[in-house]
Amino acid sequence: MKTTRSSRLFTRAVGILPGGVDSPVRAFKSVGASPLFVKRAYGARLEDVDGNVFIDYVMSWGPLIHGHAPKGLVKALGDATKRGTSYGAPSPLEVEMGERVRELMPSLERVRFVSSGTEAAMSAVRVARAATGRDKIIKFEGCYHGHADGFLVQAGSGALTLGTPTSPGVTKAAAADTLIAKYNDLASVERVFKANRAKVAALCVEPIAGNMGLVPPADGFLQGLRDLCDRHGALLVFDEVISGFRAAPGGAQAVYGVTPDVTCLGKIIGGGLPVGAYGGKAEVMELVSPAGPVYQAGTLSGNPLAMTAGLWCLNQLKPKLYRTLADLGTRLAQGLATAAREAGIPLQVNAFGSLVTPFFTARRVRDYASATSADTDQYARFFRGMLARGIYLPPSQFEAWFLSAAHTRKDVDATITAARAVLRELGRE
Ligand SMILES: *Cc1c(COP(=O)(O)O)cnc(C)c1O
Repeated sequence: MKTTRSSRLFTRAVGILPGGVDSPVRAFKSVGASPLFVKRAYGARLEDVDGNVFIDYVMSWGPLIHGHAPKGLVKALGDATKRGTSYGAPSPLEVEMGERVRELMPSLERVRFVSSGTEAAMSAVRVARAATGRDKIIKFEGCYHGHADGFLVQAGSGALTLGTPTSPGVTKAAAADTLIAKYNDLASVERVFKANRAKVAALCVEPIAGNMGLVPPADGFLQGLRDLCDRHGALLVFDEVISGFRAAPGGAQAVYGVTPDVTCLGKIIGGGLPVGAYGGKAEVMELVSPAGPVYQAGTLSGNPLAMTAGLWCLNQLKPKLYRTLADLGTRLAQGLATAAREAGIPLQVNAFGSLVTPFFTARRVRDYASATSADTDQYARFFRGMLARGIYLPPSQFEAWFLSAAHTRKDVDATITAARAVLRELGRE
């Protein structure tokens, strides 16, 4: 594979952008390579500046459920641009978009649009604190809620009472209000609640975890969280930035029949443009400025291009799409599992609809500890082998692969064929 142009660009990039990228997940550091620079993308394909074409399973990390550059979206955006790119004043699109979101996810009685998932999660916590008059939040090991200070936290020595920063630059004070529990372990949540009586404003969870690789919730886990939040007077915040509109049109909350107080949205909601949103019970959301005293604002929030892309994207979410995606997901997951078995390589494949993660481990993956038992060196070798065969995977073991409406059975079968060859090589090493 020729990578002359990408290599040259990367050399320039590291001279101006920290690490050569604008978001760390795009670097190929953890898979021992350097990133490819993209010239264009269409359907399920990514073409780099050297002319290599790949079947893409990153799909911009989740937003592109309809594939790259779908015709209808491109046209809608072109038309919208001519009417102006940002008004700094309300537009009918925001009302339409808000109502559309509520139709799909009725628990969002009120919604505020922002420009990223990070903003959504950070603002959701602010309003939850205001609504409860409490300071602490609970999050789960291995869940990601964007890069706001209070979320870049891991369990400290006093795990039940105090978090510690995972990034320099996050103060101990910011981390101290974040408590850490174990995913799919209700007892761990109960312990944290009990050690912090009447102090917890919100429990934040990815109802289908996608940021330690894909880890679906165990039976009864989400309902258990709902019950614990009710018992302890905390708000239940679902971070559906990945699962929203992907698990089902109504998100994970529709699939599992558990209603959160506040929901965070991102990724698919913007159809590839920068959109996030948070919303929930009217009595909570009416605290947000200017309806209420909780300040939160954005120059480009709800701008007409973002709303146009989002509306187009949400309007194409038909039940048939989810059946097709689930079939593809199952086919891919089974193909990978079979290929690994044949090659004698331990592989746990987690799958949910259009989300798939193969973990290089013999353990069943249901939380952060089992996810991180995966052999990341082996994943790196797998990644490089797949890339050389025209398959673009997430450059990290701990990410979900994303399928889209643009992926075909043929694409999936080609991917399995490539995986069979790469896994066989790994099995021989
Ligand atoms: C991607 C992601 C975020 C952050 O969204 P950004 O738009 O990258 O800021 C938050 N929560 C979850 C679950 C995510 O997957």
